[in-house]
Amino acid sequence: MEATSLYNAQFMDHVAHPDYKYDMGDCTCEHDGINPSCGDELHLKVRMADDGTIAEAAYTGHGCAVSMASADMMSDLMVGKTPEEAIKLCQEFKDMITGKQTDQDQLEQDLDEAAMLKDVSHMPARVKCAELAWRTLSEMLKGTADGQASTTEDAADAQKAANA
Ligand code: ZN
Repeated sequence: MEATSLYNAQFMDHVAHPDYKYDMGDCTCEHDGINPSCGDELHLKVRMADDGTIAEAAYTGHGCAVSMASADMMSDLMVGKTPEEAIKLCQEFKDMITGKQTDQDQLEQDLDEAAMLKDVSHMPARVKCAELAWRTLSEMLKGTADGQASTTEDAADAQKAANA
């Protein structure tokens, strides 16, 4: 059973008329995200402001409606956030779509429009789609903070293996 309320007018507007789907000229950092299980591909670019906050986020790529709408909502949400705040929001989004965080008021307060993707937690096949943009941003920001690129997930897996 799929939740039908997800594909509402507001959601479809992000798919049909995305605000942040364009190739940014002067980005500070960029990162690719791929979801092979669905074929979603995302190229995310971020420009940092002088005060260390995210001035602009934009993406190019292609994929299903959930992956693209999620990327658009995320790009809107991240403007003005510090990398630390952004990474926390990415974690909260992940907790939401995996059903760990269910406090609707809190989610709407923190994630704004993206809280509507909560229904994805009832659609296991779409979780990786919804998560793609947030995972990509989180990897990018953590990589920048660590001074290393895109190995966040591999490092986490290696850590897990070492602890096993
Ligand atoms: Zn997808």
